[in-house]
Amino acid sequence: MPTLQTLVIKIGTSSLTHPVTGQLALSTIASLVETLSELRHMGYQVVLVSSGAVGVGRTRLGLKTRPKTLSLKQAVAAVGQGRLMRVYDDLFSSLGQTIAQVLLTRRDFVQRSCYVNISNTFQELLQLGVIPIINENDTVSTEELRFGDNDSLSAMVASLIEADWLFLLTDVDRLYSADPRSHPDAEPIISVSDIAAVTEQVEVGDSGSSWGTGGMVTKINAATTATSAGVRTVITEGKYPQNILKILQGEAIGTQFLPQPSIGNARKRWIAHGLVPLGKIYLDQGAVQAIIDKGKSLLAAGITKVEGEFLPGEAVQLCDPLGEEVARGLVNYGSEELQQIQGQRSIDIPQILGYMGAETVIHRDNLVLL
Ligand code: GLU
Repeated sequence: MPTLQTLVIKIGTSSLTHPVTGQLALSTIASLVETLSELRHMGYQVVLVSSGAVGVGRTRLGLKTRPKTLSLKQAVAAVGQGRLMRVYDDLFSSLGQTIAQVLLTRRDFVQRSCYVNISNTFQELLQLGVIPIINENDTVSTEELRFGDNDSLSAMVASLIEADWLFLLTDVDRLYSADPRSHPDAEPIISVSDIAAVTEQVEVGDSGSSWGTGGMVTKINAATTATSAGVRTVITEGKYPQNILKILQGEAIGTQFLPQPSIGNARKRWIAHGLVPLGKIYLDQGAVQAIIDKGKSLLAAGITKVEGEFLPGEAVQLCDPLGEEVARGLVNYGSEELQQIQGQRSIDIPQILGYMGAETVIHRDNLVLL
């Protein structure tokens, strides 16, 4: 038996609520609760990421349309979150399974100390046999630092806790070459090893139902994040949560994204997924090869262009000459200094800047290849 494998299961509002009335889809929720409790009994560590606060709050308040402003959305989520947890707690309790509520914001992942604390809390909860139920802390999240959709949140949690699997439960049974609701001849996609290639083939559209926020784009982005952290990711239908058991036994249900070799230590995963990059540094081919093939640090000489405003110690994306992101890292120089020293040899930097700065623009210990 695969002991102590860790699973993150994300369920969207479209699966948790009735598409027209917005009322809770009780049979789906009950089946989800049964499945997750069974997985716990089998020895899996289970984390649930559940949307639905805004949807449930909206029904509770009798709002006919989706809240448009951030403040209304936040107020509605505050009404719905408690209701939602009450339903989960009643159902899980009847099966003897303890749950915990964890509300996170994007900002919590940016601060290294918070990131480490969240990770430690999850370890404790999982060791206690609890199923943490996560949602975005909608009330306090700000426009600039929001996940906005729980697909991204679940992928970052899966990376943080080094999960083995991420299940994205949604209102279609798998990924198709086009939206199967409007294109009946759309081709199903069973397994994906190269996400970039699939993204080119697939017409993903940008939003799901009117009750949730995610669409296939956010799911594919989530799969990119999770698989790069070594997490096998599955898109499958939320109406049949018991399929998770079958998928774990090897049945080809849904679309599976194969895991890539993991990024490595927790600090590097934080640089890659926790931080919000504030700029882009474009590299020449020589610098791309030096950092990718030889594992070297980044020097000013290989930089061709700098975009964005950032300070020393902040995170940036590194792009190849075609503009594709190849790595992320923490810079030793701010954007203003980098504009002055880009393309220059390291020995000339003190003269250009008037002081002796770091020898590297990004040290290899602070650089993560993607
Ligand atoms: N946090 C939002 C909610 O609970 C959901 C975000 C999403 O749908 O992905 O309603």
